[in-house]
Amino acid sequence: MEPSRPVFTVHPPGAPAPRPSGGEGFARGYSKTLLSMLVTIAVFAWWIGDWQVAAGVVVLIFVHEMGHVIAAKVLGMPVTAPLFIPFIGAAIVMRENPRDAMTEALMAYAGPLAGCVGSWACLWLAQQTSQLWLVEVAAISFGLNLFNLIPVPPLDGGRVCAAVSRWFWLPGLLLIAGTMIVLHAWQMLLVGTLILGSAYQRIRDDMSHQAEMRQYYRTSLPLRALVAAFYLGLIGVLLIGLSAANGLLPQAISFGN
Ligand SMILES: [Zn+2]
Repeated sequence: MEPSRPVFTVHPPGAPAPRPSGGEGFARGYSKTLLSMLVTIAVFAWWIGDWQVAAGVVVLIFVHEMGHVIAAKVLGMPVTAPLFIPFIGAAIVMRENPRDAMTEALMAYAGPLAGCVGSWACLWLAQQTSQLWLVEVAAISFGLNLFNLIPVPPLDGGRVCAAVSRWFWLPGLLLIAGTMIVLHAWQMLLVGTLILGSAYQRIRDDMSHQAEMRQYYRTSLPLRALVAAFYLGLIGVLLIGLSAANGLLPQAISFGN
């Protein structure tokens, strides 16, 4: 029996998934992406009072999403174009479930990997042009990609770690819950609630299809070790980037400290 895992969003957690219509053309899909990007830039610019930073961050989120899209293409997974949702992030939707946890992990990893490359490129550009706002964009982007690597589904980190061991989800869940309690900012409460709700659904789905899921998560030990090493390596490179960007910012606007 096919596990009835729903078609899921890669980003953001639990947001209403655009219905996989099947007939959406490339131009139509990406014109929606562009429109949703412009709306998100406008809302974000109004919120932080800096349209340049808002536009830069949204472009780098697009780079992250395109990492997922390109990986999906390579892996033969049909996905929708990214759709941006103000205050939450962006989403692509898989039109069918991945074959196994490793395929899901590779697709998930490609997002923060592309985001990491984009953030470093942005930081390099900032230094070449001496533009402080580009440093801010890089710092926010390093932070966002790190957040997405928290090991809890539906975040990218939760999907990558699932190919190593689903026990990673426990510290991930605690980290999200802890952050909600400590920050208790409305945005973190909203995003945290969506993540926890979606994680609960995923765990419940896994539990109700235990036999199929055992097959789904079957991966060799060396491959698990390799995924774990790449996961921790990417976190390391993002942390170095965040600290480099923060070092270039005046103390008043540094991020992630
Ligand atoms: Zn992602």
